[in-house]
Amino acid sequence: MDHCHTSDLISLDQALEKLLTHTVPLTATPLITTETINLTESAGRITATDIISPINVPSFDNSAMDGYAIRLADLNENQTLPMAGKALAGIPFQQEWPNGSCIRIMTGAPIPSGADAVVMQEQTEVTATGIRFTHPIKPGQNIRTIGEDISQNTVVLPKGIKLSTTQLPLIASLGIATVDVVRKLKVAIFSTGDELQAIGEPLQAGQIYDTNRFAIRLMLEKLDCEIIDLGVIRDDPDALRHAFIEADKQADLVISSGGVSVGEADYTKQILEEAGKISFWKLAIKPGKPFAFGKLENTWFCGLPGNPVSAVLTFYQLVQPLIAHLSGFTAWQPPMRLTAKTTTPLKKSPGRLDFQRGIASLNEYGELEVQTTGHQGSHIFSSYSLGNCFIVLERERGHVAAGETVQIEFFNYLLKNQ
Ligand code: AMP
Ligand code: MG
Repeated sequence: MDHCHTSDLISLDQALEKLLTHTVPLTATPLITTETINLTESAGRITATDIISPINVPSFDNSAMDGYAIRLADLNENQTLPMAGKALAGIPFQQEWPNGSCIRIMTGAPIPSGADAVVMQEQTEVTATGIRFTHPIKPGQNIRTIGEDISQNTVVLPKGIKLSTTQLPLIASLGIATVDVVRKLKVAIFSTGDELQAIGEPLQAGQIYDTNRFAIRLMLEKLDCEIIDLGVIRDDPDALRHAFIEADKQADLVISSGGVSVGEADYTKQILEEAGKISFWKLAIKPGKPFAFGKLENTWFCGLPGNPVSAVLTFYQLVQPLIAHLSGFTAWQPPMRLTAKTTTPLKKSPGRLDFQRGIASLNEYGELEVQTTGHQGSHIFSSYSLGNCFIVLERERGHVAAGETVQIEFFNYLLKNQ
């Protein structure tokens, strides 16, 4: 049961606002935060400068078709010209071009100087006196002109984008071999709790496996961060204090999980209050109410809740945009919300914004539908693997009946591979 008064909870939007306004992107600090790397190693990295084209694309006028290059003024009444030579892709026609003749040309071949149209092969016939042009011809037809796609010295891609398959080949097509990117954000992570056992070790009485650190690692890898894994920290003030000091020395951002609620053994709060300027939030979202955020001596700090479903959700909804902000990824977009009809009833009590896990699909009419993954407890991690989206239920909403309209957010690449 949730006995908390909902008035002292802070909304997701307020929390995001605080995270983004109280932190400073790497690129806005006086430190050296950019590096020049090979284009071939830059997938997933954030551009630190605008990418300017050093060349025109195409870099020369060339043919869009296999056919014949002509000078319109050469055309006679019977529309027939003898062939004077060939231009192939990579092998320009460089001889003298006699008046009253045409040049065989292939796709991608440079347009011979003086030509003002290319006639596609399908609109010609070979006759005894030369090539006959059977269709009307427009000046400039089938010529790809220099700089038509990209002109030299213009911005091709802005700074603040994450490089991927949609941009890297474009940069390669400009002959650019290296790019300036923001250095990777260094993120120190640790889990807290005496009950946590490492994967592969047998469980002793009362122990559980450490799921959170693994989940957080995987998401940080997808976000292309440099990870400093400090392992499991026992519920012991000295161990925790030491972990915070180490993390603060090495990282830009420190993320812990567990120990931010009000349990007896939760020392994090006490240590953090000594270590820096930290706020303990009660978020008006479910799962994931407790969340700590603040500044250690050198670094930013996020304390995620211990329950694995909550830890992943708060990472996804809060830490993901924070990391984008800190990394100079200004083009980052929050997950898009779509409208769907639920085919199952959804249990919900008013007071918090719910992120239930759902399975979305298109029905036979092509409409978006969603169903619950089942039990929504914050310890039911299998709900993520069953689901493909969050069902986002407004804060004041109560139970939802089958057939009602809801908002959904498809899991992005942090949670799914497709
Ligand atoms: P806490 O916030 O530390 O009180 O933890 C809340 C719940 O989450 C407890 O049931 C913990 O055992 C569990 N928990 C905390 N950390 C982890 C973790 N790293 N992996 C899995 N469960 C955890
Ligand atoms: Mg704990």
